[in-house]
Amino acid sequence: MPRDPVQAAQTPRQTPQDLRKLRKRLGKRRKTCASCANATANAARLARAAQTPRQTPQDLRKLRKRPGKRRKTRRYARGSCGNPAPLVICNSSLVTNTPMAEFDIRKAAGTTPETERDYENALRPLSFDSFSGQREVVENLKVFVMAARMRQEALDHVLLHGPPGLGKTTLSNIIANELSVGFKVTSGPVLDKPGDLAGLLTSLEKNDVLFIDEIHRLSPIVEEYLYSAMEDYRIDILIDKGPSARSIQIDLAPFTLVGATTRSGLLTGPLRARFGINMHLEYYDTATLTRIIHRSADILGVGCDTDAAKEIAGRSRGTPRIANALLRRVRDFAQVKGSGRVDREIACYALEALHIDRYGLDLIDNKILNLLIDKFNGGPVGLTTIATALGEDPGTLEEVYEPFLIQEGFLKRTPRGREVTQLAYEHLGKVPTPSQGSLF
Ligand code: ADP
Repeated sequence: MPRDPVQAAQTPRQTPQDLRKLRKRLGKRRKTCASCANATANAARLARAAQTPRQTPQDLRKLRKRPGKRRKTRRYARGSCGNPAPLVICNSSLVTNTPMAEFDIRKAAGTTPETERDYENALRPLSFDSFSGQREVVENLKVFVMAARMRQEALDHVLLHGPPGLGKTTLSNIIANELSVGFKVTSGPVLDKPGDLAGLLTSLEKNDVLFIDEIHRLSPIVEEYLYSAMEDYRIDILIDKGPSARSIQIDLAPFTLVGATTRSGLLTGPLRARFGINMHLEYYDTATLTRIIHRSADILGVGCDTDAAKEIAGRSRGTPRIANALLRRVRDFAQVKGSGRVDREIACYALEALHIDRYGLDLIDNKILNLLIDKFNGGPVGLTTIATALGEDPGTLEEVYEPFLIQEGFLKRTPRGREVTQLAYEHLGKVPTPSQGSLF
């Protein structure tokens, strides 16, 4: 039966079918979960938006006459509550919807942390004052955060880069905490559809912090959507295909994106240019790591001598995450084989048992150096060759093992590949063969 034009003109803007299509276009529809507090509110906003009449009867008649014409881009207004338009797709496994105040597991009713991840969170400093080291970075961030607070604005977007375990996630937590705003966490590889990003961005409240770990692994399409979100606090999404394709613009609340990467060189120019604050984290010195170990020992409730803390710090590869992990392992040895207290003797015993040498090199580091010397005459040899010989992934080798070996002077990168240094020979008690000797 043909539809009455007046009735058609009064039809709400989008039918449920339209909405289903919309969600399909933005990525597979996910089940909203009970833990996402925003889910119900967003669904209600979605329904309200669907019932708002968008076009006048004249508009609709014109449109029907010219079905091939593409519809005008419309700007979705922010609702009276100040929240952005719908399109929220919840995926609680990817996103921490918890504001920072709830992030501290130490406050969790005195429960004992059970997993390694819990331990890591328990040891995470929550304010600039409890964050040791990286003095320059922290001092500058303090100023930027204070200025943003005074102006009641969102902090400019922050890019943190440096090797793993140096405190990028911790610092982003602290930024959100010091700004007293909400904090959401996700990571580059999981945001594979623009819909995921749209859902995440529309659920942010004013001045919230969104942390994207491994931001260099964002898919190019998601990255492009991020550009306008970062610059103008809005995203444009194309809905439907062919003649009925249309673009909608969604306003977002001002927010701060904190991106973390171990490989800043892989970031595209346009993305890097959109970060107003760009900071590099350095490896920590032994004195700072000793302080971090003492703090962690206090939190874990284990007695730790200064000598022992220094010994652990010296073998932690300049990395707080490794320092904390070694402290926990030494504590295990102290409990089982010692008096329960972490002293220098038990620390050395435990570290020997874990094959961590006095430079902090572990079995794999020494395996890399031995391989280069024994099989490739000290190099130069390509990264993929070393990775294949070790049965490791080249990316892991380059990101996790190599930086420390290079920083400590055991290895060098040359245009022809990786080469060991004289220090590596001395450390392993090996003598360069005549052809190797000529390298130095
Ligand atoms: P990244 O994100 O750079 O990989 P994280 O922020 O996850 O590193 O830090 C790893 C662990 O190291 C956390 O448990 C945190 O408690 C600890 N940590 C990092 N930096 C510091 C610091 N400056 N002071 C105290 N602990 C730190």
